[in-house]
Amino acid sequence: MRVLGIESSCDETGLALYDTQGGLLGEVLFSQIDIHAPYGGVVPELASRDHVRRLPLLLRELQQQTGVERPDAIAVTAGPGLMGALLVGVSFARALGFAWGVPVLPVHHLEGHLLAPLLEGEAPFPAVALLVSGGHTLLMEVRGLGDYTLLGETLDDAAGEAFDKAAKMMGLAYPGGPILAQWAERGDPTAFALPRPLLDRPGLDFSFSGLKTAFRYALDKVRPASDQQLADLAASFQAAVVETLAEKCRRALGQTGHRRLIVAGGVGANKALRSRLADLASGARNREPIALHYPRLSHCTDNGAMIALVGGLRLAGGLVPAPDFPVRARWPMESLETR
Ligand code: ATP
Ligand code: MG
Ligand code: FE
Repeated sequence: MRVLGIESSCDETGLALYDTQGGLLGEVLFSQIDIHAPYGGVVPELASRDHVRRLPLLLRELQQQTGVERPDAIAVTAGPGLMGALLVGVSFARALGFAWGVPVLPVHHLEGHLLAPLLEGEAPFPAVALLVSGGHTLLMEVRGLGDYTLLGETLDDAAGEAFDKAAKMMGLAYPGGPILAQWAERGDPTAFALPRPLLDRPGLDFSFSGLKTAFRYALDKVRPASDQQLADLAASFQAAVVETLAEKCRRALGQTGHRRLIVAGGVGANKALRSRLADLASGARNREPIALHYPRLSHCTDNGAMIALVGGLRLAGGLVPAPDFPVRARWPMESLETR
């Protein structure tokens, strides 16, 4: 079965073709970063408009790339995300499904992020999954397709959002997360003492707004900051986020007893986080080692491949919902249908 995946929940338009037997056959992506950069954040109305413009062009490109005109099914992100942006993708999918006479499956965007490592091979279940993206930070127990338990989540900002806001305070371009990470490489992570939120308490929830405020005070104190001070601040901020994320992963693995950790979402591309988690995995003494599962770098952020994959898995598992499925700006992952 060949499944066309369509992603348009935020500021990326992504399409991909996934074969339930042969894997990923092709993918195309357009990022709207340059459209939103002048505003310092995603402008929902502009996002919707550009998805409308881009989707037919990308479909043509994918058809040429794969030589496949018509798939056997269509999987589309139906939430969570920006309502207008989601409606564009779902309407496009429904129109294609109608014209081609093929089923259209709604996919949960975060399930796409969590299962993206499967595009690289075997199903890594049961596992603990850390999802660290622009809009979400959560730890999920993953027992199988659709079988999830939320272990902890952020009480305020997402990790990616915190990176972007700190970067904005430093005067870096949008989205600043990866740029701040580059500055951090030249800095001393111990130069500034920034808080490690919620590490002093048990539990698996996260909070980043206090850290963001502490960062602002530290920055204000050294203004006008030299390049070295900025690099030191970036490194100190990154270290605080990374240490918090890694410690919560360690606790979640201990609590569930699972020995696999899936890391997904844009912040999963962060090198300092990857190196810290590698230490965690190899430092697991006297126990079965912890296996780390990452999507390939281009699948850490939004893409159509992860949506096509989930559609394919759900189709193969006989999990095909009614064609009048809703579009949801909010959609709890634990409510998903399971096998
Ligand atoms: P969601 O899936 O929650 O709706 P999203 O899809 O917008 O959010 P992603 O595309 O998964 O989020 O990730 C984007 C975020 O990842 C941005 O906040 C970006 O700054 C951050 N990010 C990307 N690369 C890095 C990096 N190397 N270090 C830190 N943050 C990064
Ligand atoms: Mg994005
Ligand atoms: Fe996303």
